Amino acid sequence: MIHVCIIGNGIAGITAARNIRKLKSASEFKITVISAETDHFFSRTALMYIYMGHMTYEHTKPYEDWFWDKNNIELVRDYVQKVDTLEKKLNLQSGSTLNYDVLLLATGSSGNRAGWPGENLKGIQGMITYQDIEAMEGNTEGVKQAVIVGGGLIGVEMAECLHTRHIPVTFFIREKEYWSHVLPPEEAQMISRHVRDNGINLLTEQSVKEFKGDSQGRVSSIVLEDGKEYHCQFAGITIGVHPNIKFLEGSGIETNRGIMVDEQLRTNIPDVYAVGDCAQHRNPPSGRRPLEQIWYSGRMQGETVAKTICGKPMKYVPGIFFNSAKFFDIEYQVYGQINAQQQDFEEQFYWEHSDGEKAIRIAFDRESGVVIGFNLMGIRFRHHVCDRWLREKRSIEYVLEHLEEANFDPEFYQKHEDEIAQKFIQDYPNHPIKRKRQGAIAALFGL
Ligand SMILES: Cc1cc2nc3c(=O)[nH]c(=O)nc-3n(C[C@H](O)[C@H](O)[C@H](O)COP(=O)(O)OP(=O)(O)OC[C@H]3O[C@@H](n4cnc5c(N)ncnc54)[C@H](O)[C@@H]3O)c2cc1C
Repeated sequence: MIHVCIIGNGIAGITAARNIRKLKSASEFKITVISAETDHFFSRTALMYIYMGHMTYEHTKPYEDWFWDKNNIELVRDYVQKVDTLEKKLNLQSGSTLNYDVLLLATGSSGNRAGWPGENLKGIQGMITYQDIEAMEGNTEGVKQAVIVGGGLIGVEMAECLHTRHIPVTFFIREKEYWSHVLPPEEAQMISRHVRDNGINLLTEQSVKEFKGDSQGRVSSIVLEDGKEYHCQFAGITIGVHPNIKFLEGSGIETNRGIMVDEQLRTNIPDVYAVGDCAQHRNPPSGRRPLEQIWYSGRMQGETVAKTICGKPMKYVPGIFFNSAKFFDIEYQVYGQINAQQQDFEEQFYWEHSDGEKAIRIAFDRESGVVIGFNLMGIRFRHHVCDRWLREKRSIEYVLEHLEEANFDPEFYQKHEDEIAQKFIQDYPNHPIKRKRQGAIAALFGL
């Protein structure tokens, strides 16, 4: 029997475990999942809802606790301190060891720290783990002023969490607008506005110098590079994440920022694989980054590596990029390639609703008119439709003509479809779409 050990019970490791079990029976493959954080798999993206009281921890578990026994997937709650790739052995914090035939590293990531003086004072934390959410309960009790540093997705989620407890938040970001290295300017402005409309004191172009503490060693203020000081009893640091790879030192497994993997998610050591947040792709597919620390990528990598481990070697082909998130009340979806700064080879058509909280951006190739990406704010499109349009390399004309197919909420489009098409014609008066005498767009404008 082959023993597969998986380190990490997040989406990547658990998807792999489930898919290996689908392909191999318990008499062929023994599966052990080791994780230090929680006994069972839970949805990390739902962590904020636990703090906000919308869900309990139990609700965030996609599978009942009996599922693992029933499927002969052994769960071990422990921390792997050392991987011995010569002996094929794991040393656990509890003092026990585990031998493996195949090892899958799915260790996820941890929050970054900048090394600011005082950043380890009590009341300063990130929001990545279940333990962080538990700590936040205690750390925010009785807090009158909170600060958050770092403007990514987790920062805005933390701001929303504190907001639901009526804790005033000052949110410091380095950039000119919220998440402006990912979002194009209009969307970045929209979210900055929306965050402020929700009562968050968002301050842009700010750099932290240090945190100061009180006599109990608890944070009492944050000092910025420009000398300004803000009092606070809680500080969130949300300045990005880095893969959990430190415990691999001396194992011979090649790492850089993450664990280096090839197209089949293999590391440099035979029978050792890596997936999810911790994996760094040597040759990422075109348009993709070497490290993709998002839920959907972890799930897809877990599915792919399961096949390879079960003797059906498979390359990781991520397909069309997709991600989604929520900034307070504004839902965000991105499909394909959306550049924060418009590139020379592309056009970016942008429509924004007059309420300033809904927008659609469609990026297309300037020469061919082929659509390469969608950015949606406050509007949801059907995943399979956008995915198909991008795979089929549909033109901007085609997409605008068939926009109603992507409607998640048809009522919305009854109201705005015409407006979107009109905006396009206004922005691109010389575009061939104007000469088109057939199809829905032409009909709309009586062309
Ligand atoms: C608050 C928050 C919100 C997010 N929102 C979104 C979102 O809206 N959309 C999106 O796409 N992504 C989102 N993400 C990112 C997404 O959750 C991650 O990309 C994904 O969960 C990573 O899954 P993973 O399986 O690679 O690792 P993880 O879920 O991090 O699991 C790895 C596990 O391995 C354990 N581990 C690590 N090292 C060891 C060791 N040596 N021994 C034992 N155990 C170990 C860790 O403790 C952890 O439990 C969010 C993340 C956070 C924190």
